[in-house]
Amino acid sequence: MRVDKRKVALVGCGMVGMSYAYCLLNQTVCDELVLIDVNEKRAMGEAMDLNHGLAFAASNMEIYAGTYGDCRDADLVVICAGVAQKPGETRLDLLKRNAAVFRSIIEPVTRSGFSGIFLVATNPVDVMTRITCELSGFNSGRVLGSGTALDTARLRYLLGEYLHVDPRNVHAYVIGEHGDSEFVPWSQAMVATRPILELCREGAGVSGDVETEGISQDKLRKIEEQVRGAAYQIIDAKQATYYGIGMAMTRITKAVLGDENSVLTVSAMLKGGYGQRDVFAGVPCVINGSGVRRILELPLTEEERERFAASCRTLQESFEGVL
Ligand code: NAD
Repeated sequence: MRVDKRKVALVGCGMVGMSYAYCLLNQTVCDELVLIDVNEKRAMGEAMDLNHGLAFAASNMEIYAGTYGDCRDADLVVICAGVAQKPGETRLDLLKRNAAVFRSIIEPVTRSGFSGIFLVATNPVDVMTRITCELSGFNSGRVLGSGTALDTARLRYLLGEYLHVDPRNVHAYVIGEHGDSEFVPWSQAMVATRPILELCREGAGVSGDVETEGISQDKLRKIEEQVRGAAYQIIDAKQATYYGIGMAMTRITKAVLGDENSVLTVSAMLKGGYGQRDVFAGVPCVINGSGVRRILELPLTEEERERFAASCRTLQESFEGVL
C-alpha cells in the first residue's frame, strides 16, 4: 500500500455511501475520494456538495465523481451500492437483487488493475462479501465486509449506557451473520477488567472497579434482543439506517489505511477457525494495511459454538445457488 496518498473509491453514493463519505471527510481519513454510481448525475452532485464543505474541513481532500478506471490505484474499493432493505424485508431477501448489481461492479473494478482491498457494506453483507471474493478472485484476506462491526458498536453502546461505562471500555462482540442469527457470546464479554457474567453473579453494587447497578442475565438477554432488532426499528422509524454504518465503515477504513492492527468484528472468510470453512461471517479480526491479517478465535462455550455453527449454516444456505 502506498503511504503517500491514501485513495478510496466508493461505489454506491446512496445514504450509506454518502454517510461514509461525509464521515471520511470530517475525520480526514484519506487524501483522495472518488465517487462512482450507476446514477452518474447523483455522484457528480454528491462530489460537488462535499467539495463545497472543504473550506470548513480540517485538511484538504481531492473529491470527484469518477469511473471504474479510477479504481486502478485506489487502496480501498468500498461497495455500498445496492437496493436498500424495505420495511419487513429480511436481509437475506435482498440477496438475489444485490448479486446482479455486484456482477456489474466487480468485473470493471478488477479490469481496472485494482490491487488493493475490497470493503463491502451492501446487505446481506456476509454473503455479498463472499460474492465479492468469488467474483474478484482476490485472496480472501483482501476482501472484508462490515460484518457485525455496527452490531458490536450497538451492543457496546447499550451496555455502556446501562452500566455507566464508556462504550470503548466494554469489550464484547456480536458474532456470526449480520442479521437474524447473530448473537453475543457472553462468556467472552468484559466490562473494563471484569467478565460480565461475573458482574451478573455478583448483582448490584460496586464490584471491583466497576459500578454494576444490578445487571442481570435477563437484562443481558434484552440488550441482545435490542441489538438484533435495532436495524428493523430504525427502518420502521426512518426507512433506512446510515449514520452508524457510515461511522463503522470509516473506523475499518482507518484501520486499513493507518496499518493499525486494530481488532474489529468484520466479515471475514473462515478457514477452519470456529470449526468453519469457506464461509464469510462476523468475527473479531486484526485489521491492518493488508486487510484481514488474522482471525481471532474466541474460546466459545459449547452452546455458543453451536449457535455460531447455526449462523454459518444460514449463511452457507443463502450463498448456495446464487452465483
Ligand atoms: P440507497 O438506495 O440510498 O443507495 C444505493 C445506491 O447504489 C444508489 O445511489 C444507487 O444508484 C446505487 N446503485 C444501484 N445499483 C448500482 C450499480 N449497479 N452500480 C453502481 N451503483 C449502483 O441505499 P442505502 O440506504 O445507501 O443502502 C445501501 C446498502 O447498504 C443496502 O444494501 C443496505 O441494506 C446496506 N446497509 C448495510 C448496513 C450494514 O451494517 N452492513 C447498514 C445499513 C445499510
